Amino acid sequence: MKIINLLPNAQPYDLPKQQAEGMIAAGIAKAYVAPARKFNPNAKFGLNRYQYDGQPYIIASCSSCGNSTHMYGPTAHTTQVFRHCGVTDRIPQDIAAEYERAREQWKPKPEAPSRTPMTGFVIPI
Ligand SMILES: [Zn+2]
Repeated sequence: MKIINLLPNAQPYDLPKQQAEGMIAAGIAKAYVAPARKFNPNAKFGLNRYQYDGQPYIIASCSSCGNSTHMYGPTAHTTQVFRHCGVTDRIPQDIAAEYERAREQWKPKPEAPSRTPMTGFVIPI
C-alpha cells in the first residue's frame, strides 16, 4: 500500500498493507493518492498529402498528451476540431486557408473501372 508520511517534503512509499494501516492509525502517515495528471496543451497543426491519391489532409498532434489525428474532406478545415489534454483546439486560420487551397487543386483519382457485368449468360434448364 502506498502511503506518505505527514511531514514536509515527504515522498510516497510502499509498505505492506498491515504496516501501512498501522502508520495511518498512529497518525504518522496517510494513504497516498497520486495527483491527477495535468497536461500542458501543445498542439501543432500541419498540412500533408496522402501518398495513395495525393488528397490533402490536416494533421494535428500534441507533444504533451501524445494524441494525434488526420482531418480531411471538403469541410474539414471549418468543421473539425482537435480534442486533447482536456481542451478543444480549432484549426489555425493559416492552416485552414492552406488546406482550402490544396483541396481546390486536388483532383480525386478516378474510380477503378467497375467490372463489366456478365451478359448473355444463360443457365441451362
Ligand atoms: Zn494534448
